[in-house]
Amino acid sequence: MRIVRFAASEDPQYGVVTGDLDEHGQLAEDATIVALAGDPLYVGIKLLDEEHRLADVRLLAPVLPRSKVVGIGRNYAAHAAELGNDVPSEPLMFLKPNTSVIGPGDAIAYPSQSTNVQYEGEVAVVIGRICRDVPAEKATDVIFGYTIANDVTARDLQKGDVQFTRAKGFDTFCPVGPWVETDLDPHDFSQGRRVRTFLNGDVVQDGSTADMIFDIPALVAHVSSVMTLLPGDLILTGTPEGVGPMLPGDEVEVVVDGLGALTNKVVSR
Ligand code: MG
Repeated sequence: MRIVRFAASEDPQYGVVTGDLDEHGQLAEDATIVALAGDPLYVGIKLLDEEHRLADVRLLAPVLPRSKVVGIGRNYAAHAAELGNDVPSEPLMFLKPNTSVIGPGDAIAYPSQSTNVQYEGEVAVVIGRICRDVPAEKATDVIFGYTIANDVTARDLQKGDVQFTRAKGFDTFCPVGPWVETDLDPHDFSQGRRVRTFLNGDVVQDGSTADMIFDIPALVAHVSSVMTLLPGDLILTGTPEGVGPMLPGDEVEVVVDGLGALTNKVVSR
């Protein structure tokens, strides 16, 4: 099931969107959304007798992390190597503030403090319930679903600062969407899902989730051994190789097999 959050004429609401994805992660224009009563993370899936055409609504970030976005660095060996880093012996964690989250189609604002803002296409895990100390074999019990994220990073600030907070924490630096897919499981990703990033239509990243160093259950176990996770928290699972700069005016799109396509424009802040 694909859970969207959308704006039609009134307040934002949640819905379920159906239809086949093409190979570029796009749904047909005539795809429809059935509205839901309330936030499914809290009230479950309650379908309403209300339909919208996908073409008539604006999709919003499908999940609003109440507390945090947890990032994982260097989880693909080829990406660690391209930035001159070793592969970590355990998952490397950082936080992005929830205020960095934007939705599909929203603008990434290029901050004046940086001259090297880069895309990082990633799979994001959406936590479904409050949990801590989750063993890897129970990780699926606490996962609500999966979406796409762009872990936007000011690479020059990341290199200069010891902490990643500023480099990854600017407003708009965490596009997520276009929906939360609830029908996949960690096995689908360890088998290999293609993660591609397109910059102005050209492929710049083309990796497979099979190449994650720490798989999704291991990440949930590791993060939850440190901090309590709340419904709607996100874990970004790391980016494959091919990261590079974006400039105002660019369009960046992350496509993950089975998860759709997340497209955003870059604008001057
Ligand atoms: Mg990243």
